[in-house]
Amino acid sequence: MRFRRLKLSGFKSFVEPADLRIEPGLTGIVGPNGCGKSNLLEAIRWVMGEGSPKSLRGGGMEDVIFAGTATRPAREFAEVSLLIERDDGGDDDVAGESEVTRRIERGAGSAYRVDGRDVRQKDVALLFADAATGAHSPALVSQGRIGAVIAAKPVERRHMLEEAAGISGLHARRKDAEQK
Ligand code: ATP
Ligand code: MG
Repeated sequence: MRFRRLKLSGFKSFVEPADLRIEPGLTGIVGPNGCGKSNLLEAIRWVMGEGSPKSLRGGGMEDVIFAGTATRPAREFAEVSLLIERDDGGDDDVAGESEVTRRIERGAGSAYRVDGRDVRQKDVALLFADAATGAHSPALVSQGRIGAVIAAKPVERRHMLEEAAGISGLHARRKDAEQK
């Protein structure tokens, strides 16, 4: 799976709509302190289904919505879209492009869409978990996270290794099947 494009509107400091192409190879984001580099990585994690406001440096989920400044009013919603290119995953998975969108409105919670169709958070989480690129994937290393990996308890480290090995998607599917 490859990320092709990231679109943001009203997400944290990205108050005006932004549309970023992610080219093949290594992408670097450079800029002064506080310009929004970490916010971009958090936007990716958020659209992938991140459910913990704390890991997005907020107290509540609505804290991802642009909060306003002295000269600009706050926004009522935040929306992030991630265009992904899927590999041929075998089975009934077909290669192709998909656009995953998450939107949050004040007082109304989050909603997800894949290619314009309403889906559940779980569907989005599974879509990414299968590709071992879930919102908690060790491929996404937040600021200060290296220290956390070093200090992790064995159980936590096992979770990290499972994510890295790409088997956490299987766990999620098994749990899902057991509940049915
Ligand atoms: P550093 O180089 O220090 O790591 P950075 O480029 O990673 O900085 P971020 O942490 O991504 O910067 O951005 C921080 C900025 O985002 C701060 O100015 C903060 O006020 C702003 N910000 C975060 N959440 C919101 C919000 N909900 N509304 C408006 N601005 C926000
Ligand atoms: Mg940062």
